[in-house]
Amino acid sequence: MRKPLPLHTKIFIGLAVGVMAGLLCNAFFADEPALDWAIKNLISPFGQIFLRLIFMAVLPLIFSALALGVAELGDIRRLGRIGVKTFFYTIIVTSISVLLGITLVNMVRPGVGLSEDDRTALMSTITTRPAQAAVEKAAEAKSIVQTLLDLIPKNPLADAAGAFDETYRGGGILALMFFSLFVGIALALARSERTEVFERWLQGLYDIVMRIIAIAMKLAPYGVAALVFSVTARLGVDVIVLLGKYITVVLIGLALHMFGVYSLILKYVVRVNPLKFFGRIEEVILTAFSTSSSNVTLPTALRVTEEKLGVPRTISNFVLTLGSTANQNGTALYEGVTVLFLAQFFGIDLTITQQATVVLASVLAGIGTAGVPGGSLPVIVLVLVSVGVPGEGIGIILGVDRLLDMCRTVLNVTGDITAAMYVTRSEGQQLKLE
Ligand code: ASP
Repeated sequence: MRKPLPLHTKIFIGLAVGVMAGLLCNAFFADEPALDWAIKNLISPFGQIFLRLIFMAVLPLIFSALALGVAELGDIRRLGRIGVKTFFYTIIVTSISVLLGITLVNMVRPGVGLSEDDRTALMSTITTRPAQAAVEKAAEAKSIVQTLLDLIPKNPLADAAGAFDETYRGGGILALMFFSLFVGIALALARSERTEVFERWLQGLYDIVMRIIAIAMKLAPYGVAALVFSVTARLGVDVIVLLGKYITVVLIGLALHMFGVYSLILKYVVRVNPLKFFGRIEEVILTAFSTSSSNVTLPTALRVTEEKLGVPRTISNFVLTLGSTANQNGTALYEGVTVLFLAQFFGIDLTITQQATVVLASVLAGIGTAGVPGGSLPVIVLVLVSVGVPGEGIGIILGVDRLLDMCRTVLNVTGDITAAMYVTRSEGQQLKLE
């Protein structure tokens, strides 16, 4: 019997079919009203089915993943110093990665380049957006103090309900994340038989929503074909050029963080030779690259860090296990770049507050993203919509996601090992790379 094609190959085929069919239609029927009608009433709604199945699972996913992630961190609080160091290291290095990505995307502006006509045509395919004016008004009218205050939700349910509504004036997604973090902290502090039941329930909820997303992803090859067709049939080859620029920016950002930021940390903070370090972890890099999953790479990472780098088990067990879901530098960088790229693509100017939302949400998403292939996609959809960028954008990048996923997972895992090296060194312990 022939082995079924892996999902990512099918998604890539979906992309290729969508692009080719779209380009052909663009070349031959660009001015036909029938093409317009078909896109609006048949093809685009089909893509929407796939998107909505993902949307439906995102809010419970964020809530359960963040609360569980923080509750685990809280456990680790008992490990004292190591816990605190890992926590601060994670926040600082993840923030650096997001800022690096965002700076690059603001400098290169890979999503800019569509003509006004093209953009109007593009926006007419998108049926779900409220008027831009309403979005701008919602973003404008708030002071910085109010924006910060709104991070603490008065009514978490209202913020959850407003998370997908770009005209919503409360804290939205960030407030929901804040609430989830707090539930996780309280859960870690109030350990009892009863709260254990709740934690298991959360774990159950998490498993269920992950399964819903897995089912939705089965539709992805068709959804991607439909979404990409809708865009290329309208805009032609321009889209492909922009997509190429976007891929280049993500890869440059990831490379700078991997070989620049990590090398600096290794050389000046951990005080080991970065080249030797990368040589020793080659096996981990290859595993992360080929599996696109931090979780699957964990056993290899644990073994190599102990055997080849001399990180003590007490430290590596803790830092790497936690890091495989909580310290995802590559994912955070990628999320920031993607959201801003799509905002540029759709011609949406994000205000400073909105850009700050993207940064903060990407850093937090580094804690809440599952270490599985494509784990960051649901989070991207949520951040996109919460700053007023059409969720349809995900269809444009999904087809090339596997390649970028392979690369960002390498960073996620290398970042965890670098963190373990830093903690070992700061504890005054010997490393094998001396
Ligand atoms: N695949 C990534 C990981 O496992 C998560 C993601 O960014 O999708 O680390």
